[in-house]
Amino acid sequence: MNTASDAHDANMRTVLVTGGSRGLGAAVVADLAARGLNVCFTYLNSDEQAQQLVASLGADKVLPVRADGRDASAIAQAVKQCVAHFGCLDGLVNNAGITRDRGALAMSAEHWRDVIGGNLDSAFYACKAVLPLFVEQGHGVVVNMASISGLVGVAGQANYCASKAGLVGMTRSMAVEFGARGVRINAVAPGFIDTDMTRKLNERRVAEMENRIPMRRFGTPQEVAKVVAFMLSDDAAYITGQVMVVDGGLVT
Ligand code: NAP
Repeated sequence: MNTASDAHDANMRTVLVTGGSRGLGAAVVADLAARGLNVCFTYLNSDEQAQQLVASLGADKVLPVRADGRDASAIAQAVKQCVAHFGCLDGLVNNAGITRDRGALAMSAEHWRDVIGGNLDSAFYACKAVLPLFVEQGHGVVVNMASISGLVGVAGQANYCASKAGLVGMTRSMAVEFGARGVRINAVAPGFIDTDMTRKLNERRVAEMENRIPMRRFGTPQEVAKVVAFMLSDDAAYITGQVMVVDGGLVT
């Protein structure tokens, strides 16, 4: 990806990343900041980790905003804060997400709603908050953090698979709707990546998955962040409505 100062990518100066305090989101924030972009990120609970991330990257380039993605007005407010602080907004990475895994028959309506709300509603609200601006300025890029769980069935993840499949559908629909207005919308679908989310898995499941992954290992957050950066950049200028799988070959 070219840096903000590069004329080729002059339109990508500021990116909003949801759920940027930990894991994949934090890696995306760090990667984009290292490329010279301004980054605003949201988070929900991890104040300390958010502050540590800002301290490590520099407060001039990185703005943390505590905002619950499930609250449409909170994310709209975060977008306003980001634009007021950096003067522009060119990219959105819908990364915030949670799991509440259990068998479908043991899954309560609350487990279902938590995950659909945290993973899918939140991305819709963030898109609603940024798209009017992107359309008005005639450019903007959205990257939705889906999952291979949105592409294949995983037992115990009816809520999570539905949320991520929903994100893929939303990505494709919005790409068609906004393509002519200079706005690109894509998804990245990671497989098993080493973050707090997968550290919840027991040792047997980790070993089983490592054995099934053709590359025989979990991915790193940095490996996903590089793909997100590519999707945001002008190097991907003719790509929209696509799902880029980053999974070491697990889903082929
Ligand atoms: P993680 O380590 O658990 O981090 C999740 C991040 O999302 C945290 O920064 C968290 O903030 C934030 N967040 C959660 N709910 C939020 C809300 N309602 N409002 C604002 N922020 C919220 O997860 P991860 O593994 O990095 O996953 C990031 C994304 O990648 C998720 O969408 C996940 O579904 C997807 N993904 C992950 C994997 C994997 O193997 N790790 C694979 C495929 C897809 P707080 O810390 O403040 O709570």
